[in-house]
Amino acid sequence: MNKKKRRAVIAGNWKMNMTPEKTTALIGELRELVKGKRGCDIVLCVPAIDIPAAVKAAKGSRIRIGAENVHFEEKGAFTGEISAEMLTSAGVEYVIVGHSERRQYFGETDATVNKRVKAALNAGLKVILCVGEVLEQRDLGITGEVLAMQTKIALHGVPEEQLKNLIIAYEPVWAIGTGRVATPEQADEGNGVVRKTVEELYGKKAAEALTVQYGGSMNEKNAAELLGKVNVDGGLIGGASLVASKFAAIVDAAQ
Ligand code: PEP
Repeated sequence: MNKKKRRAVIAGNWKMNMTPEKTTALIGELRELVKGKRGCDIVLCVPAIDIPAAVKAAKGSRIRIGAENVHFEEKGAFTGEISAEMLTSAGVEYVIVGHSERRQYFGETDATVNKRVKAALNAGLKVILCVGEVLEQRDLGITGEVLAMQTKIALHGVPEEQLKNLIIAYEPVWAIGTGRVATPEQADEGNGVVRKTVEELYGKKAAEALTVQYGGSMNEKNAAELLGKVNVDGGLIGGASLVASKFAAIVDAAQ
């Protein structure tokens, strides 16, 4: 397994935090802190209302802007939803799909995750697809099966040539926003299952080239150890992405 073949990606997920004004301030601070840090790609996935401010504040820097979700239809009577074309036309390059909070609180299913993945990739967006087991599934010893199933359904019908725009984030649900981080070994194992599943679907070369992030209470203190694992190619970071210095320290750990 050659980690050097893969691009490390450190991505923030702001969730329902930050106003446009705060967005401008945080990105203004962050862009100075990450100047010259070329060892990883840097992405901030922000609430829809903050996208224009984020795109403006990040212009000319290494920071790329992502959204936190996307609808699968191109347009129409879907009140409150945002299409892939709306995102790309606003300057968005990445989108998170299938975050566990969407699955848990907003009725997202593996089938709708699959539709969103395809709509986003077809529109030219880079997708950060989230998969992960809940604690009961881990305790039952079915983490591997859950990760394989979520990955297979999410990628159903996705052609191999679109994998260059795909990142998968392994996010054990019990580690998200809880402060209870997976051990580096658990993260490596989960990411390894995701990679193995992609190998089953698309072959070894595609699997070796895929960036697989770990997400779940990653912070400036534990990032280096997690990112040091062979299957961990980056991080999806919630809480610690809301503080420029903490997020920049994780970017440092990925250099
Ligand atoms: C997330 O929202 O994807 C996440 C990993 O959150 P946190 O870092 O706060 O656990």
